[in-house]
Amino acid sequence: MPDQSERVVIIGSGPAGWTAAIYAARANLDPLVVEGAGSRTMIPGGQLMFTTDVENYPGFPTGVTGPEMMTAFKQQAERFGTRVITEDVVEVELSAQPKVLRTSGGREIEADTVIVATGANARWLGIPGEERLARVGGGVSACAVCDGALPAFRDARLAVVGGGDSAMEEAIYLTNFAAKVFLIHRRDEFRASPIMAERALGNEKIEVLWNTVVTEVHGDDFVEKLALEDTVTGAASELEVGGLFVAIGHEPNVGFLDGQLPLKENGYVQLPNPGRMATDISGVFVAGDVTDDFYRQAITAAGMGCQAALEAERWIALELKPSPVESAAGD
Ligand SMILES: Cc1cc2nc3c(=O)[nH]c(=O)nc-3n(C[C@H](O)[C@H](O)[C@H](O)COP(=O)(O)OP(=O)(O)OC[C@H]3O[C@@H](n4cnc5c(N)ncnc54)[C@H](O)[C@@H]3O)c2cc1C
Repeated sequence: MPDQSERVVIIGSGPAGWTAAIYAARANLDPLVVEGAGSRTMIPGGQLMFTTDVENYPGFPTGVTGPEMMTAFKQQAERFGTRVITEDVVEVELSAQPKVLRTSGGREIEADTVIVATGANARWLGIPGEERLARVGGGVSACAVCDGALPAFRDARLAVVGGGDSAMEEAIYLTNFAAKVFLIHRRDEFRASPIMAERALGNEKIEVLWNTVVTEVHGDDFVEKLALEDTVTGAASELEVGGLFVAIGHEPNVGFLDGQLPLKENGYVQLPNPGRMATDISGVFVAGDVTDDFYRQAITAAGMGCQAALEAERWIALELKPSPVESAAGD
């Protein structure tokens, strides 16, 4: 026997999850959000809990911190009756109807519809100083488009770590603000597409440090310098910078799906119909960075959360017969 039966269960509590909850709650669908149990790399509230200033989300003319924004999203969802469980979903049976979800707290939840909004984790280097400075807004970031325009990085010497298309894009983007961008790559050639690599190599503000890894980030409140190591000779050196952008990819949070939804080659959830949030499984929708390997912004995640909730609402109206109580009430 399930512990509870729900009409809409939303898995994840970033901008996508809370926006889906606001829409579903206001449509009287009484949604349940399973917001995540929290770990070293991911906490309820999502990726924005790891950043300080958010300056590009409309509606906040003087900016807002990531945690403040996510607290406001949650409060708005709860205001309309959204219920929240602070656990992870660890197992799903999505093809069943109703769908079955099992949580890290040992609950079994039945759901008519499920919205997967579990986001993605930016990959970090895992070196001393990195996480501490990233958490306090100390000039270490995993998102140049999000943070590059902040005043602290204007005319600074910045470093980007990575060798793929994202690293090229981030480095080129940062040249709009920085005095100089060091592109640090552990090998002697980029994995990026030739056109992106050429653009980065041709940019006079970008200097590539080949065969180099960052081993430590130094700075009390803000990054001051990086400890480097040559991957060929092992020689150690230091580089003075006023910002570090880690661009070594993202991991979509899809492990708990256990292959039940089709994934793209890069691990993001594949959607069958462009512009729609419905998956291949009837009654299952996705939203946000768990499917979006392109924009990866709070505003786009929130937009997809809205879309997923509207699609779930329509699905319930069209596919589910009203319960006997509801039909009697309507007689
Ligand atoms: C350092 C940094 C700074 C950024 N700054 C900006 C910015 O200034 N502006 C901007 O627009 N974007 C910014 N972004 C990008 C933005 O944070 C993401 O695009 C956005 O958070 C994606 O929202 P989401 O809801 O899809 O997922 P996420 O925010 O990733 O949230 C996913 C949620 O799912 C939960 N979860 C995961 N697995 C499970 C599970 N099995 N069960 C239950 N819950 C689960 C997690 O706990 C988390 O709450 C930044 C990103 C980073 C990393």
